[in-house]
Amino acid sequence: MVSYKELGLVNTREMFAKAINGGYAIPAFNFNNMEQLQAIIQAAAETKSPVILQVSKGARNYANQTLLRYMAQGAVEYAKELGWEKPQIVLHLDHGDSFETCKSCVDFGFSSVMIDGSHLPYDENVALTKKVVEYAHQFDVTVEGELGVLAGVEDEVSAEHHTYTRPEEVVDFVTKTGCDSLAISIGTSHGAYKFKPEQCTKDPKTGRLVPPPLAFDVLDGVMKELPGFPIVLHGSSSVPQEEVETINANGGQLEAAIGIPEDQLRKAAKSAVCKINIDSDSRLAMTAAVRKVLNEKKAEFDPRKYLGPARDSMKKLYIHKIINVLGSNGKA
Ligand SMILES: [Zn+2]
Repeated sequence: MVSYKELGLVNTREMFAKAINGGYAIPAFNFNNMEQLQAIIQAAAETKSPVILQVSKGARNYANQTLLRYMAQGAVEYAKELGWEKPQIVLHLDHGDSFETCKSCVDFGFSSVMIDGSHLPYDENVALTKKVVEYAHQFDVTVEGELGVLAGVEDEVSAEHHTYTRPEEVVDFVTKTGCDSLAISIGTSHGAYKFKPEQCTKDPKTGRLVPPPLAFDVLDGVMKELPGFPIVLHGSSSVPQEEVETINANGGQLEAAIGIPEDQLRKAAKSAVCKINIDSDSRLAMTAAVRKVLNEKKAEFDPRKYLGPARDSMKKLYIHKIINVLGSNGKA
C-alpha cells in the first residue's frame, strides 16, 4: 500500500471546489508515454495550472500500470525542477471498469479514480460506485462516477449512441454513492469522429463543418439539482482542423474528423463543469508533427528528431487549452 500523499500528488477535492468558485475547469490529459507526460508537465508548470494526469485502461495495457505510476511520481519531481514549488498534480484512473481495478490503483498511489458503471442498470451503477467510494475514501482518494452514456470509441470504451444524463437521477445517485464528482453526458463523445457530417452545418467563411451545440439544458438541469457539485465532461477534444490538415497533407487519411468547438467548452468551463477530459487532440498534435518530420526528412531515423517536435506540438496544444479554453492558468 502506497499513499499518493507520499508521492507528492493531491486528490481533486480542493482543486474542484476552487474551480467551481473561480469559474474555470481543470484539464484532465491522458498520458501513455514519456514525451506526452513531459509536454503536460511543462505546460502545467509554465502556466501554473493544476492538472489531472489520466491513465486509461488502454494506457495501462500499453505502458504498464507500474511504470505509469512511477512516471507520475517522477512528474512531481520534474515539476519542482521546473520551478513549480508546490505542484498540484492528480493521478487519476480514467474509466475504471471494476472494483478490483479501482482498488489496485488506490493501493498503488493514485489520488483519484473513476468508476464507470454508466453502462450498467441504474441500481447496479449505484452499488458499484458506492463500493468504490467506501474503499477509496478510507485513503482520502476521490471518486468520479458517471451517469448517462457517451457515444464514440476510445481505447476500450465504446458506445454507438448517446444517452443524455437524466437530471432527475443525479441527486439520488450522488447521495447514495457519496461520489466526489459526476461525469455527465450532454453531447460530447469519445474519439476524433464525434459527429457525422450530416449532423453539422457549414461555416460559410471557412467552409469547415460546425457540429450541433452541446445540450446545455441538460447541464443546467443537473446544476439546478446539484448546486455547486463538481461536474465532469469526457470526450471534449476539439479536433483542431489544422492538425487534421497537416496529417492529411503528409500522407494521412483522416476524413471528416470533427470535435467539440472550443467556445462551447469555454462556456462549460465557466459553470459547475470543473474537469474537462482531452485526449484525442494531443494524439492528433503528436501524429501531425511526426508525419510532417518523417515526410519532409525521409532519411531521418533518430526517434528524438520526430518525437521532440511532437512533444513541442503537444505542449503548445496543452498551453492553449489551459489558457484559452479552461482558464486554469495561474490557479496553482
Ligand atoms: Zn471518457
